[in-house]
Amino acid sequence: KDSRRLIAVSNRLPIVVKEEDGRWQLAAGAGGLVTALSPVLKRHRGMWIGWPGCDEAAPLEELVARFAEQEGYRLGTVPLSQEEVEDYYEGFSNMTLWPLFHDLLGLCQFNAQHWRAYVEVNRRFAEVTAKKIAREDLVWVQDYQLMLMGGRLRELGVKNPLAFFLHIPFPSLDLFRRLPWKMEILRGLLEFDLVGFQTLRDRRNFVACARELIPGLRAEVHRRTTVLRDEERAVRVGHFPISIDFGEFNNQARGREVADAAWYLHEKFANRQLLLGVDRLDYTKGIPERLLAFERALELYPELHGKLSLLQIVVPSRTQVPEYQSLKEQLDQLAGRINGRFGEPGWIPIHYMFRSLDRVQLLAHYRAAEIALITPLRDGMNLVAKEYCAASVDNNGVLILSEFAGAAEELGKGALLVNPYDLDGTAEAIRRAYTMEQGERQRRMRMLRASIQRNNVHRWVDYFVNSL
Ligand code: UDP
Repeated sequence: KDSRRLIAVSNRLPIVVKEEDGRWQLAAGAGGLVTALSPVLKRHRGMWIGWPGCDEAAPLEELVARFAEQEGYRLGTVPLSQEEVEDYYEGFSNMTLWPLFHDLLGLCQFNAQHWRAYVEVNRRFAEVTAKKIAREDLVWVQDYQLMLMGGRLRELGVKNPLAFFLHIPFPSLDLFRRLPWKMEILRGLLEFDLVGFQTLRDRRNFVACARELIPGLRAEVHRRTTVLRDEERAVRVGHFPISIDFGEFNNQARGREVADAAWYLHEKFANRQLLLGVDRLDYTKGIPERLLAFERALELYPELHGKLSLLQIVVPSRTQVPEYQSLKEQLDQLAGRINGRFGEPGWIPIHYMFRSLDRVQLLAHYRAAEIALITPLRDGMNLVAKEYCAASVDNNGVLILSEFAGAAEELGKGALLVNPYDLDGTAEAIRRAYTMEQGERQRRMRMLRASIQRNNVHRWVDYFVNSL
């Protein structure tokens, strides 16, 4: 029907390149965005543009051609030097924008060299993209690493429809004002035709920043979007909560392999309930606070001793950054201290694993856990929360969710919402989940699953693309 091509742009290409026995191999990456975008890119004869993230020695051209044959859509590569990756990606993106946009001003670095690299790399992405697109193509830029691309593309004379989606939160005006380069970021975003956020709260924050900081901008609020207008342009701002492939998680969780692995886990924790946490190692995920809340629950409710264990999986991430290393040390220390304080023969309060799980094991953990404890201090969406529900095929799980996760906007009715800074409140929610009657568990989980099934990731893509 729609013959226009779709061009997706993100920092990293959805590929893994590696050398095995002297031969270069390329595989499609895993992860939610790839699952979501691949079918659309195929259908729209599209292209994905980004940094390949691999060794300069790799024969990229050949690999990229092979990818197009295998996957049915093309790749465009933006090569980056080691130094650019350090300053633009690890520096400005991950040491300035990431903490600031997650409300953690104290962890932000404001470094002019990092900023210059960010400007320069956004320009380079725009140049590569401008060369590859045709007149009618839709360009859809992903996430905080590329917020200046809209402006750069316009400078190069690109007239195509341009859209942007931010996967992380957008901060309040009071926080955003701290950024020395706020005007450049804001003006850059306003060069897109459509700017999408995860939640209504993020959309409102952005609109408030734009109206306060850019004089002469008018806002018309509609139900679905807010239109920001001045003499030159009209930018549509909306919220489009990202999701998962519900069907895939649901089906795989029902499969033999996952059922067996879940049964095995269940046996290991016979006669006790399992409280599950799964997170990338990141200071936004509130993992220390979660361990402390669990400790508080054990202090307040001795009836939980021997009856409930927390299984916390932490997936290694950004381990070269000092903040992440000290977080790791803090977790090691906390888990040890709490186990030392409450452990008994035959009962370990906290099972802590610092590693990633394959898909079968991850789903088995979701299925086996009676309660999920997902308490980020701030999170754009949090897909683990949705995956847990999609994998709770017996409708028996209870979801305890931070009110500061984007997912809380949609899942607030079925989940037990907590403030992760409130240890007593979180401890109380743990007790409540532990004692929740079967009937209430089922009713809540059915509601959660129905909502995620309806608002799945395919719908997210369609809704966004159709809004353009
Ligand atoms: N995940 C993974 N390996 C693991 C555990 C989890 O790849 O061992 C995945 C999980 O399935 C989810 C993603 O990591 O899709 C985490 O997404 P989320 O939105 O929860 O947080 P993010 O890490 O993007 O901040």
